[in-house]
Amino acid sequence: MNSTALGRVIRRAESRARERAEPCGMCGIPVEKEHTHLLDERGGALLCVCRACSVLFPEENGRYRRVPSRRIRLTGVRPDDLGVPVGLAFFTRDAQGAVTAHYPSPMGTTGWTVEPAVWAAAVAACPPLETLAPGVEALLVNAVRDADERWLVPVDDCYRLVAIIRGSWKGLSGGTRVWPEIEAFFTRLAEGESCRT
Ligand SMILES: [Zn+2]
Ligand SMILES: [Zn+2]
Repeated sequence: MNSTALGRVIRRAESRARERAEPCGMCGIPVEKEHTHLLDERGGALLCVCRACSVLFPEENGRYRRVPSRRIRLTGVRPDDLGVPVGLAFFTRDAQGAVTAHYPSPMGTTGWTVEPAVWAAAVAACPPLETLAPGVEALLVNAVRDADERWLVPVDDCYRLVAIIRGSWKGLSGGTRVWPEIEAFFTRLAEGESCRT
């Protein structure tokens, strides 16, 4: 996903927080609060879909790919090994196997390509990473302050986290609100609560 497409998704996530019910990207009816997302591989956008439309789509169907719902806490892979010095990062893989690291910030998200050897070492240390679904799942690393967590999550969780950072960051260091919000996000992940928007 390129940064423009990512920016669109993040803006949509922010507007979703303000609006009541998003229309289904397929049929237009308002979606339930808990709903599935489809990745449109042509433009890189995530579509909210209603239950009826989500069952019509298999996990992969040419243009659309359903965002899985599993969330797995990972061990074995260290942030240092992935070149994450501090803070938050998430990693996505494209259909060709190229891995991109995304660093969220209040200005948006910067990304760069991860060396294949670095990713191969991470997969060797943490075999579930081998199953990371291209485009729709992410490795999320939380090394904020004293945190040390790695998750395999649906990619929309990462966009929601980016929206939280953009929405609550203040000043140069983040201010007082953003850190508790980030912590609350990870607490909800740990509790297995749904973080979907
Ligand atoms: Zn629908
Ligand atoms: Zn949605």
